[in-house]
Amino acid sequence: MTEIFTGLFTQQEPIPEEGIAAANVVMQHGRLHRYNTVDGEIAEVAMLEEEFAQATGADYCLAVASGGYAITTALRACGVGQGDRVLTNAFTLAPVPGAIAAVGGVPIYVGVTEQLVIDLDDLANKLDQADVLLLSHMRGHICDMERLMALCNAANVTVVEDCAHTMGASWEDIPTGRWGRFGCFSTQTYKHINSGEGGLLISNDAEAMARAIMLSGSYMMFERHRAAPTASVFAQIKYETPNISGRMDNLRAAILRPQLRHLAEQSAKWNARYDVVANGLAETPGLTLVGRDAGEKFVASSFQFLLLDWDEAAISEVISRCARRGVELKWFGAAEPVGFTSRYDSWRYAPSEPMPATDRVLASIVDMRLPLTFSLEDCAMIARIIRAEVSAVFQSNAVQP
Ligand SMILES: *Cc1c(COP(=O)(O)O)cnc(C)c1O
Repeated sequence: MTEIFTGLFTQQEPIPEEGIAAANVVMQHGRLHRYNTVDGEIAEVAMLEEEFAQATGADYCLAVASGGYAITTALRACGVGQGDRVLTNAFTLAPVPGAIAAVGGVPIYVGVTEQLVIDLDDLANKLDQADVLLLSHMRGHICDMERLMALCNAANVTVVEDCAHTMGASWEDIPTGRWGRFGCFSTQTYKHINSGEGGLLISNDAEAMARAIMLSGSYMMFERHRAAPTASVFAQIKYETPNISGRMDNLRAAILRPQLRHLAEQSAKWNARYDVVANGLAETPGLTLVGRDAGEKFVASSFQFLLLDWDEAAISEVISRCARRGVELKWFGAAEPVGFTSRYDSWRYAPSEPMPATDRVLASIVDMRLPLTFSLEDCAMIARIIRAEVSAVFQSNAVQP
């Protein structure tokens, strides 16, 4: 019997009851704007910021309208402007180079390794080309952060971390987002906590965070923040920083706070699903699993594997055979950007140099989400289907001359 999977790869869990109840309270009182509070009231957004700062161990936190907005705000607060070059990963998603373009910057791409992390040797060679690195922990793969920070500190390069896929994750014992000057998180539906759209920014740098708060549109009400620098830090910054509104509202914060409290449990569930898929795919001929360093304390909300050195037709064949059996795979190497996949050379607004070693890896990356609505048995079935289809295509290609 041919197994067919019928689950939906884009179906997230419902918002927890506590979140729905808290959202109802906000809707009933009507004070959705973060600065619309009555005497003695602490806005949901201010509480979320305080709780997220606590969860990550950061001094300061700012909640904003999206992950992309968090990144552009961090870049602006670090002084990136028109024509400035910014180092970033060649393997990432479109909002990352998009954030650089939004502030008038120009991305310089750094290669990817077979472990799907930034190539630190390539980075070392390019550090003299920019003052800022926008590091994307793409798909939750975390590079050796100690080595990365040592390289960047020695070259005076400021690090901004894109943690869209690493909320709840660490390198060794320090959470992602705490290594660089800013950590930028997303609370968009497909990330680790879900408010439809939303973003969180953390930092230990008081001046940079004061600028970020002013940028986000604080209408001089920064004293109502709780996870913020003291008022004196804003003394000059408040006159010098433009307002580029992108605040989070109380409704989203109300939905997010209970989810944040359950993040550790949720992370364990994701990793259990990841392990089932990884075990199911182990030693499949032609298929390479992505290695993980012992220092990576990851949260695996998605799964990647490599079909290294396969020709394009054979990879397409695997994708379509799996699709016919209900397993929705995304191929990052496809020449045309489709859905959420894209390659650095498809962002034609930003020039790029050819990167052959990176192209070889990118061309081989197959990706799928692992939503928590999938059971462990679902994950085992998904692995059996992928294993069967990869093996079938690999064998039929291997016999050709
Ligand atoms: C989702 C995502 C972002 C941006 O998040 P939005 O909230 O959608 O703006 C940034 N980087 C990566 C790698 C992402 O996947």
